[in-house]
Amino acid sequence: MATPLDQQPVTALKGVGPGLAKKLSQLGIASVQDLLFHLPLRYQDRTRITPIGAAQPGVEAVIEGTIRGADVVFGRRRSLLCRLQDNTGTITLRFFHFSKAQQAGLKTGDTLRCFGEVRRGSAGLELVHPEYRHTTTAMLADDGRLTPIYPTTAGFTQQRWRMLTEQALARLDHGLGQSLPDALLPDALRVSLADALHFLHRPPRGVDLKQLAEGVHPFQQRLAFEELLSHNLSLRRLRARLQQHSAPAMKAPGQLSQQLLQRLPFTLTGAQQRAVHDIVTDLAKAQPMLRLVQGDVGSGKTVVAAMAAAHVIGHGYQTALMAPTEVLATQHANALSQWLQPLGVRMALLTSQTPKKQKAEILAGLQDGDIQLAIGTHALFQESVCFHRLGLAIIDEQHRFGVHQRLALSEKGQSEGARAHQLIMTATPIPRTLAMSAYADLDNTIIDELPPGRTPIQTVLVDNSRRDEVIERVHKACREGRQAYWVCTLIEESEELDCEAAEATHAALSTALPDVRVGLIHGRLKPADKNAVMTAFKHGELDLLVATTVIEVGVDVPNASLMIIENPERLGLAQLHQLRGRVGRGSAESHCVLLYAKPLSHYAKERLATMRETNDGFVIAEKDLELRGPGELLGARQAGLVQFRIADLQRDAALLEPARHAAETVLQQHAALAETLIARWLPDGERLAGA
Ligand code: ADP
Ligand code: MG
Repeated sequence: MATPLDQQPVTALKGVGPGLAKKLSQLGIASVQDLLFHLPLRYQDRTRITPIGAAQPGVEAVIEGTIRGADVVFGRRRSLLCRLQDNTGTITLRFFHFSKAQQAGLKTGDTLRCFGEVRRGSAGLELVHPEYRHTTTAMLADDGRLTPIYPTTAGFTQQRWRMLTEQALARLDHGLGQSLPDALLPDALRVSLADALHFLHRPPRGVDLKQLAEGVHPFQQRLAFEELLSHNLSLRRLRARLQQHSAPAMKAPGQLSQQLLQRLPFTLTGAQQRAVHDIVTDLAKAQPMLRLVQGDVGSGKTVVAAMAAAHVIGHGYQTALMAPTEVLATQHANALSQWLQPLGVRMALLTSQTPKKQKAEILAGLQDGDIQLAIGTHALFQESVCFHRLGLAIIDEQHRFGVHQRLALSEKGQSEGARAHQLIMTATPIPRTLAMSAYADLDNTIIDELPPGRTPIQTVLVDNSRRDEVIERVHKACREGRQAYWVCTLIEESEELDCEAAEATHAALSTALPDVRVGLIHGRLKPADKNAVMTAFKHGELDLLVATTVIEVGVDVPNASLMIIENPERLGLAQLHQLRGRVGRGSAESHCVLLYAKPLSHYAKERLATMRETNDGFVIAEKDLELRGPGELLGARQAGLVQFRIADLQRDAALLEPARHAAETVLQQHAALAETLIARWLPDGERLAGA
């Protein structure tokens, strides 16, 4: 039996020695199969000669004609012009770089065959630096197939890619391993993997090039479908593996959480009650909970976390709550201590700033179980941290953490052979399509209701020339006892510049508004100083807080009801929504002023208009995905999660649901196939799932 292609190393191919194999492996290509998945970026039609009279600007074409003269001209740039004629017209070949020998080789009366992109030039239609040959056969692909152009790096010519893929294609009948049964494919995509790959490497002439360029050709969609299905399988397997472990089943009704409920100054919204109910139901099982709670900004996720923690602590287990920043961790510690300390819960805040001695005490307390609730940043992940009996790990604002960190955390929760339950809370609603692919390993609860008494935030767009009016508006609000944020947005390349901008704005506003107490917070302040500023603002000792986007997530000061965001056009919609969510938390009517710099691109206008039109985080998240694509939305740190070879979540959204469905069937009826698919499409899949 032939060796399957995923087990044939590239060195099995003719002309591939150790040197080339090493270069290929740097591109992630180790096996013959990997080579088959290295698909062309685009195609050239070299299957026929275009009559010169029919050449169209902007189109790549093979052209053949007789040389009518070649001269060096001295225009703006010295160039060699060669006129080529056939019986339908003439065209000019233009060279900016050329040798004497080259010039001498272009003799009047010779026949040339060229390939290049036709452009409109000063002398009519031109080919700039075309490939050309005197011999008349070499330029033409005589097999009637389009010429593939592969993604490449230095040292790899297209010729070499073609040579490699040609050999790989010849081995296709050795087998790609078990294939997806036709019945699992959507009707329009029923073609074998081998046929689809063959087609995409060497499409026949006459195929719809536009469709191929857009990635919507049925053969491309066939691959995208299988890829999405395989990703879904891998996430499900991840989940299944985690859930093979046992977890402490906390079945008794939580007395501590009931006490907390009675102490709260408000009653939970229906959506919060449902979320708590989902969580408590999961915690009662002897399997680790893997639940994602999504709720729009201000929907009250913190108290849901507190209820979960109280339930677990009431059962004699510890809880760890992780936040992405020091400011947030501190704020959570404040909120939770206010609620839980009166009930006798022993808690600690652990960040990278915690003094050594205190840290040692906390570590000891976590290890012997004296501390029941630990709140912190990723410092809680560190190896030196050991828990006595960790029952629940809560991750707030999940989009800042990746799958790997989530797994590391689950390891931490390993005690007495059992794993901790996991609760993940996102600040930014995740579009449905993304949730289905990137978070298929999690159960999902949505908090779709805001606490009562909130008035929707009014958002306006104001251009920079009206800055003085905006400052006056801030002045008025502060004099009336309200508080405001002035956000200087992140200049992507440099956090430094960003802090400087905030410092300058702070100075300018302090001067312009002498009777307003203006504070400043940015990423370069020491954590202790940041906390001091936040506390002062929270206690109403500052009226106006100039900030960078460090206040983006989670900060909660209900009395703040006005926010100015400078250069909002620089931010993504989800991020703007997060920022804006810092106001509108109290009962006063809140306003958000998007102070943009003119002129705005059409695209920026459309985005900012969305902010004005809706306060619904889910609508905004969908729009953001549509405008920016999934990579950006999840943030660079998580981009690895959704790196697809073929599929594109936006373009292929319609395939997600059928792929998810098919994944279920594969697991139920073709368990071995699942492994093949995961190995085929996720080279790191094993590593991830084994963690
Ligand atoms: P987020 O979901 O953005 O993390 P928070 O947990 O910070 O929201 O809650 C926002 C504010 O709403 C907090 O001040 C919180 O105390 C308050 N809050 C939460 N739940 C309720 C409720 N059911 N009724 C009234 N206020 C609530
Ligand atoms: Mg929050």
